[in-house]
Amino acid sequence: MDDPVCSGAEFDKLKKQLSFNLAEKRVIKDLNIQPDAFIPVLFSLKFGGDWSFKTKDLEAMAVKEKITRFNEIDGEGYTLERVTLFVNPQLISTHGKILRLEKCGTKNERELVERPFRVQLDAQDIVIAELNPGSMEITLKRIEGPLSFEGSAAYGVSHEMEHLAGCEHTGKFIWEFEYKLKD
Ligand SMILES: [Zn+2]
Repeated sequence: MDDPVCSGAEFDKLKKQLSFNLAEKRVIKDLNIQPDAFIPVLFSLKFGGDWSFKTKDLEAMAVKEKITRFNEIDGEGYTLERVTLFVNPQLISTHGKILRLEKCGTKNERELVERPFRVQLDAQDIVIAELNPGSMEITLKRIEGPLSFEGSAAYGVSHEMEHLAGCEHTGKFIWEFEYKLKD
């Protein structure tokens, strides 16, 4: 039976997807890291946000930062996405305590949690993936640790490290807050 799905446009899309997947395999091989370790980066690039992944002998997490570059003169810009991958990460130090509401992908509602303002960590392998919507390129670079993060990225590191450790905090929920009318 003929497959009616394969119109010209569909075929073109399939071809692009296949070559994208092949290019993905090639960079993973060239980076010389365990293929499973790259999974959080793929999730972060394809679905957004921070991700972690754990097997019997591997822990990997990807933390995303968004950097908007805006040119005041021509009024144009783009939001660069920088995903930092840590293979077998190790927390070195944390500094400060920030109370904040967070929504985890595995949960239905936001919770009140405490996160460090600054973290310092190292890992067996660290790879930075930068997705540039302007040039439509994803560049990859292996770098040496340790690295420091503060603010959003530090909260992301802390959140994902908690997933890897398997000890998730249960915080307070929105209905435990009080409304106060100010005059
Ligand atoms: Zn989570």
